[in-house]
Amino acid sequence: MATVRLGRYEAEDGDLPRICIRCGAPADTFKPKRFNWLPPWVYVLILFPLPFLIVALIVTKRMRVRAPLCEAHIYHWTWRSLFTLGGLAILVVFSIAAIVLETNLERQARFQHLSGLACVSVVVCGLAWLVAAAIIQSTAVRPSEITDRTITLTGVSREFAEALRQRRRRRDDEDDADYRRPRRRPSYEDEDDEEDDWQRR
Ligand SMILES: [Zn+2]
Repeated sequence: MATVRLGRYEAEDGDLPRICIRCGAPADTFKPKRFNWLPPWVYVLILFPLPFLIVALIVTKRMRVRAPLCEAHIYHWTWRSLFTLGGLAILVVFSIAAIVLETNLERQARFQHLSGLACVSVVVCGLAWLVAAAIIQSTAVRPSEITDRTITLTGVSREFAEALRQRRRRRDDEDDADYRRPRRRPSYEDEDDEEDDWQRR
């Protein structure tokens, strides 16, 4: 896997090679994907949820990328988001159910030894979800930095990175050729015309 830095224009306009950003096969479509990125220092505040949320809202950087994808990877980010958000929703429902169950079990003396079991299950499921979410995110094409003008993406295919390099080199060569191309000089006919004009005057 490789890392590439894209300019805002390249990213948002999809001015990219038609090579799947994930696997390097010919791309079938350009799919818009919005990336968010937080500077790593913000995570120091994660133990204090409210300050963390406020700072995160202020400093989060965002950029949309029109990403070239093959048919096999068209849902590359969709299923990951569904897993992460769906898992979180299930976890919230489980937690509420566990609290209700615990309250009922504690009221009945013969089930008191089971008290705490539901809460432990929720904590175990929560940890499993966290680990699974971290693993599937780490295998995705993801931003490692976003600034006002650029986005750096990791986990992209080597073929895409190479095609991007070649495309930029071609563009640079074309720009150089344009720069070196001599400007049109007046032809002899033009000079004759100018002379005629002068004689007529
Ligand atoms: Zn692909």
